Amino acid sequence: MSTSIKDNITQVKMRINAAEKKADRTTGIVQLIAVSKTRTANEIRKTYQAGITCFGENYLQEALAKQQSLLDLDISWHFIGPIQSNKTADIANNFAWVHGLDRIKIANRLNDQRNPNTEPLNVCIQINISNEPSKSGIAIEELADFAAVIEQLPRLKLRGLMAIPSPSLSDQQLKLEYHRLYEAKIHLRHSGIDCDTLSMGMSNDLECAIAEGATLVRVGTAIFGPRKNNNSRDTHD
Ligand SMILES: *Cc1c(COP(=O)(O)O)cnc(C)c1O
Repeated sequence: MSTSIKDNITQVKMRINAAEKKADRTTGIVQLIAVSKTRTANEIRKTYQAGITCFGENYLQEALAKQQSLLDLDISWHFIGPIQSNKTADIANNFAWVHGLDRIKIANRLNDQRNPNTEPLNVCIQINISNEPSKSGIAIEELADFAAVIEQLPRLKLRGLMAIPSPSLSDQQLKLEYHRLYEAKIHLRHSGIDCDTLSMGMSNDLECAIAEGATLVRVGTAIFGPRKNNNSRDTHD
């Protein structure tokens, strides 16, 4: 790769700032998570040295191994992959955030297993925004009931909503779906749930997500370059 991680981060930050400006949003309001799945601990270290402190990982075993060699860094780890129930104890205790919450059973396990001497685990509820039958996430219609249950779990802190739209959407459809997610968050807030996070937007669509109210973007490729073996990793854990 010819461009360095540092240059890529500068580019991504410029894109975020430009999108914030264009949408009349406060500069610096959108948090950048570097998605480091399939990247080495050394790449994460370089990224950290370039000023990024939040990293997103999808595969538990891979993440735990890298965490072990990065203990000297003050990283906030975000688990952004699908969660299997036999993995919840490690996820509950080695991450500050979980973005893909979509089952009550998993929520209960994370709540029960989170170390009581630490801060509650920050969670986002994943919405199946494109309503794809095979995809993770709850239907937007189920959100109020689901959120009410999560709110009762003392070791979880409900921070907001997350979505991964279908990659085949037109720009206009994408905008609509991100807007629906934004409206769902506003509804939740009106119902008395104090959530502040909209986790939406990736390398290719962060401008659209920020225009529609994203507070946190999850960016991999635009920071690290193309992933080599990303499909073969899906069954990794
Ligand atoms: C891989 C991944 C990303 C990053 O995608 P890029 O297109 O590489 O920026 C963001 N969110 C989730 C949930 C992912 O799995």
